Amino acid sequence: MAEQSVTVLASTNFQLPFPCGQAWAGNSSGSSAHRAYEIDFNRGGTADADLGDTVVAAAAGTVVISSHQGSTNGYGNLVKIDHGGGWTSFYAHLNSRSVSAGAKVSQGQKVGTVGKTSKPGNNISAHLHYEVRQGEGYPGNIRKAVFNGSTFGYPTQTLTSKNKCGGTNPHTAQSVCGSGYTVIDSAALGTAGTVYLLYNNANGNNCVATIKKSSLGTATATAAYLEVQGKTRVTDSGSFTYYAGPVRAAAAGKCVKWGGKAGSSAYNSPFEHCG
Ligand SMILES: [Zn+2]
Repeated sequence: MAEQSVTVLASTNFQLPFPCGQAWAGNSSGSSAHRAYEIDFNRGGTADADLGDTVVAAAAGTVVISSHQGSTNGYGNLVKIDHGGGWTSFYAHLNSRSVSAGAKVSQGQKVGTVGKTSKPGNNISAHLHYEVRQGEGYPGNIRKAVFNGSTFGYPTQTLTSKNKCGGTNPHTAQSVCGSGYTVIDSAALGTAGTVYLLYNNANGNNCVATIKKSSLGTATATAAYLEVQGKTRVTDSGSFTYYAGPVRAAAAGKCVKWGGKAGSSAYNSPFEHCG
């Protein structure tokens, strides 16, 4: 039975209930209120460092509870999501809730923020209380939490979220290069990313940035370069999670070579954009 339960749970691909790339320390044994495999998550160095941090859905599902539990139990602001097959996840002590009962949520969607709400008289420091259950019969229905296909390292483990890491890159060429820059050329780097050439009319600078499309949140070989004719090429190259660059240089009235790398794909322009 236990083997079967774990298989079903893993197949739903639960992820850490925090945005991609964030590292959180989970602790199952630190709370006297815990009965089985519940986990409290923190990442900050002080009692309330995590207050207001974003909490996201561990997996897609339907919100079945979004309310303050009052004196009924110690959960305070609670969001409970039904993932089908009898599986549910609990997000407790929330400072704020951003979904309502009945709402469908996608994996990685924000459901609230980390808080310290509980029943009256129960003073706690800010953390996320997370638990997974299957079926009825508390506390026997509390299951070991699985994240990214691996069972949590009970009683304590620090994990980096892979939740929606395959989603969209939150960075754009414009956000990387800064205000005033607009894209004037681009080249695909296979499916791994795109390298962009931008220009700032106000100061005559070019900027190059390589924006990843795959392995988002994971450090992979990425590069961006800019070479103004007659000057030394400037390259930003390394293991980056979302982008390489920005590489900026004054290039008004000068030809430039530009390009970059992501994964196994590279692009190298000739001297161009001489205006
Ligand atoms: Zn807890």
